[in-house]
Amino acid sequence: MTERLGPPLGEPLFERLALIGVGLIGSSIARGARRKNLARTIAIADESKEARERAATLRLGDEVVGDPAEAAAGADLVILCVPVGADAAVAERIAPKLKPGAIVSDVGSVKGAVVSAVAPRLPPGVHLVPAHPVAGTEQSGPDAGFATLFVNRWCILTPAAEADPAAIARLRAFWEGLGANVETMDADHHDLVLAMTSHLPHLIAYNIVGTASDLEDSTRSEVIKFSAGGFRDFTRIAASDPTMWRDVFLNNRDAVLEALGRFTEDLTALQRMIRRGDGDGLFALFSRTRAIRRGIVELGQETAAPDFGRPHGENGEGTA
Ligand code: NAP
Repeated sequence: MTERLGPPLGEPLFERLALIGVGLIGSSIARGARRKNLARTIAIADESKEARERAATLRLGDEVVGDPAEAAAGADLVILCVPVGADAAVAERIAPKLKPGAIVSDVGSVKGAVVSAVAPRLPPGVHLVPAHPVAGTEQSGPDAGFATLFVNRWCILTPAAEADPAAIARLRAFWEGLGANVETMDADHHDLVLAMTSHLPHLIAYNIVGTASDLEDSTRSEVIKFSAGGFRDFTRIAASDPTMWRDVFLNNRDAVLEALGRFTEDLTALQRMIRRGDGDGLFALFSRTRAIRRGIVELGQETAAPDFGRPHGENGEGTA
């Protein structure tokens, strides 16, 4: 899929954008915002010296500092792009430096726990509008980001009922500037939906790859050798950042356990079908799941190319 960001805006939407955390997501926002002229000045803070050095070399921001408060000072939009477990500490740190009327947002994969951690720490007159761009890769760090990461992807805003409509509209315009389709949702509903569409699949991938890595050495090497049989696609997801995903499961516990409970029941039903030789049952389920995949492709959220568009040689073998 060739993604396009479109031409830059004549006038930036924000004077000063502060990005706290310049990993995959923060650096992608920086690149997209720069290319689309969404902010006049981009200030970046990251606690990792290595990330700061890469961000400076890659010229991702006008300022690259270690202290989140320094980056947030005077900003009209501050976006927390750190693992969700770090949001409370960052909010505490930036709160005294936030200017009245500033918008504080985030990109966390969990919303309810983030709102509880951040909202009480912000001073009056600052607008909290949480967000979750449903886009990413299994890679981390400033080098992993790219400007078109959010193009044609969903960004879900979860403002409180009493949130300022003008602040919501400005953040919506920002994400649309990055190419995203924006939807608004209640934070708890977001967490239930994402538990099923993102958190549970990651848990399953971590588990299946973990099971394989516990096999005795000879079998494990065969699993890796013949991984194109399906295992390989799980390993991509299971290569995702351990800190980020630890924080997701600790902060969306109830919704993940609910989704996991349903999954376990359905797995038991599948087990029974196999044991009883219920071919019709298996066929009916697999036909239903195939239709879901077609729906995702039709909505433009995935390529229709076989094997995720991986290049294949003439004899059908992978070349990459
Ligand atoms: P990442 O590539 O690991 O980057 C996070 C950066 O934040 C790292 O440089 C990290 O430094 C830094 N950091 C951690 N704690 C900090 C603190 N207290 N103050 C300042 N900087 C701090 O992570 P990411 O993939 O961009 O994920 C960031 C957020 O986006 C997470 O909340 C995640 O839930 C959300 N998200 C991720 C994806 C995805 O696919 N990756 C998709 C949607 C949303 P260290 O390396 O030193 O820890």
